[in-house]
Amino acid sequence: MDALSYQRAASIDAAIAAAQQPGAAFIGGGTNLLDLMKGGLAHPVTLIDITRLAPLDQIDALPDGGLRIGALVRNSDAANHTLVRTRYPLLSQALLAGASPQLRNMATVGGNLLQRTRCDYFYDTAFAQCNKRAPGSGCAALGGFNRLHAILGASTQCVAVNPSDMSVALAALDAVVQVRGPNGARAIAFAQFHRLPGERPDLDTTLAPGELITSVDLPPPAFSDHAHYLKLRDRASYAFALVSVAAALQLDGRTVRSVRLALGGVAHKPWRASVAEQHLTGRTLDTATLRAAAAAELAQARPLPGNAFKVELAQRAIVRATLLAAGATGDFA
Ligand code: SF4
Repeated sequence: MDALSYQRAASIDAAIAAAQQPGAAFIGGGTNLLDLMKGGLAHPVTLIDITRLAPLDQIDALPDGGLRIGALVRNSDAANHTLVRTRYPLLSQALLAGASPQLRNMATVGGNLLQRTRCDYFYDTAFAQCNKRAPGSGCAALGGFNRLHAILGASTQCVAVNPSDMSVALAALDAVVQVRGPNGARAIAFAQFHRLPGERPDLDTTLAPGELITSVDLPPPAFSDHAHYLKLRDRASYAFALVSVAAALQLDGRTVRSVRLALGGVAHKPWRASVAEQHLTGRTLDTATLRAAAAAELAQARPLPGNAFKVELAQRAIVRATLLAAGATGDFA
């Protein structure tokens, strides 16, 4: 057990100032950080408790019609909030698909954004090779058990996937992450918040050291009528996604006026399926068109020996999630 100190921040500014200490880490719900610490993967010297920082536990309507969800809002509170359920059902569904009720009661929205991959080799320090845990050491998953790993956007350095369900919905909804740090406040478009592994798989996000997530902002609701989050996993609950799809539509009859698709369980970050979106926009929604759009998206997949099944699974999941979002009860001929 490492020695560490604990400080409760009295304000956002105080939290940011305290985080400038070497080895400092923010702690909110702690549902991932404590696992990382117990596993010897994180070694903070000082924990900065941010759980009492009002108004980071609030959900507020924005003047433009959007919604601001404070970084300390618990996952269960966000999922069950009236404005989230009615205006952003995609986000509510994704939140409720994640983890267990107990974890959702503790985990915060900001922490959910920062949870680290569940690659077994990352968590098991008996394996020397893991570029995410020990940069330059190699990647045990490339030649090992890689059934759960990435098929899109991976690198020779890392093939891990992002485990968050919530983030898949936020990617589809074009959320914005608001942060504050020693150099002030900035807004990060969701597509730029998480990283692909490239040559630096040890970095999961584009957050700068010492920056604190203050909220996730949602644009005015545009997809409350036609949205569905589909999560496919090895068991019915409390499991990470093999593949998930966040699908949201605006329809004129059967014609797709606008569509948002994002995939989980397939890449180092939530994967916005922009190729499929382009393929579908302006087209009549039917099963054949959806299959073609999904195939076009997955044409860029580079599966590993253990996870080639994900390519077909992802295509079928795109078709099914989009049909369910459209309200179809069976195939659209
Ligand atoms: Fe580590 Fe990434 Fe390889 Fe997993 S996939 S062993 S996290 S480098």
